[in-house]
Amino acid sequence: MSRREDAPVEFDLPIGAFPSWAAAALSSGAWEASPPADELEIEGEEGEDPALAFRRTLGMFATGVTVITTTSQDQVHGMTANAFMSVSLRPPLVLISVDGRAKMHALLNEGKRIGVSVLSEEQEALSDRFAGRPGAPGPEPSFEVVHETPLVEGALAHLVGRIRRSYWGGDHSLFLAHVEYAHYGQGNPLLFHGGHYEALSAPEGSILGALPPPMRERLLSAGDEHTYDAGETVIHQGDRGGEAFVILTGRALVVRDGREIARLGPGQFFGEVAMLDGRSRTADVVAESPLRAIALSRDIVKRALRSEPDLAWRVLEVLAGRIRG
Ligand code: FAD
Repeated sequence: MSRREDAPVEFDLPIGAFPSWAAAALSSGAWEASPPADELEIEGEEGEDPALAFRRTLGMFATGVTVITTTSQDQVHGMTANAFMSVSLRPPLVLISVDGRAKMHALLNEGKRIGVSVLSEEQEALSDRFAGRPGAPGPEPSFEVVHETPLVEGALAHLVGRIRRSYWGGDHSLFLAHVEYAHYGQGNPLLFHGGHYEALSAPEGSILGALPPPMRERLLSAGDEHTYDAGETVIHQGDRGGEAFVILTGRALVVRDGREIARLGPGQFFGEVAMLDGRSRTADVVAESPLRAIALSRDIVKRALRSEPDLAWRVLEVLAGRIRG
């Protein structure tokens, strides 16, 4: 294969035959910059296998989970991958990293199309399935076909891309794909962190709303009543949170980044977390109908917690329950 003058040396390497071209890359001196393994300093737990400590270090980076799909002799092959990243908007490029030992690796080559399905939090069983992990038998995967490429049905987002370049990546190979099709839906993504699946959202439920009724009523009686017209914004995403609210009458919409994520009604609290930690609001709350609500400022809540140790302890218990999930 002749070398293109404008391309880095790794572009000369054929893909699909991992061990030989990886060896070729090494012998060509293209990877001299890679440090020998013994130059890697790993500070793990005492007595911990350094290889495991390295994996655990990398596992601290939280990701979503995708299923990469392709076809081989009219058969669909899927593989779970979290080593997926967006690379460029113009041209639209994405990158995946595939283990040289994976069956998927042998199926990919330049010009081949791949599907990327971003899994939703309900699709954990499918992630296990396409990772070849034994587990409770989930539903059979079904696929929709776009640009002659299978995509996992019900995923949060879909991409179809054609592989344009591949790169040596040690025991993995990196495949850069030019995106031809993209589609997203609504919902929460499946997350992967520290070797476990995780959820984006904290467990549902209000902190102040979970207080025993007499405590809650005492707290609310210290608040101020506010009214809002339909369409009026009660709290703005990005603003510093100073107050929590409980709805007396009417309904409100919670909108994050322009997307409606919840509807609230009488008795429901909102704005509590930003009120407690003083950080930015993570969503807008907009009155859907004329709204009457009680606002509790941080100072009011602080005073109540100082004067009533039982109340403060109860709030801690509620928070502990939420962390335990
Ligand atoms: P196999 O192991 O043969 O197949 C994978 C599984 O998918 C098998 O159970 C197979 O039955 C099933 N399957 C395949 N096609 C179909 C189909 N059409 N219908 C029904 N079932 C089907 N590895 C990487 O290389 N890169 C990564 O980024 C990566 N990220 C991961 C992230 C997570 C969260 C997990 C759990 C694993 C990850 N892996 C990754 C590991 C990888 O998913 C597994 O090693 C996988 O088994 C490799 O698949 P394979 O191509 O060798 O095919």
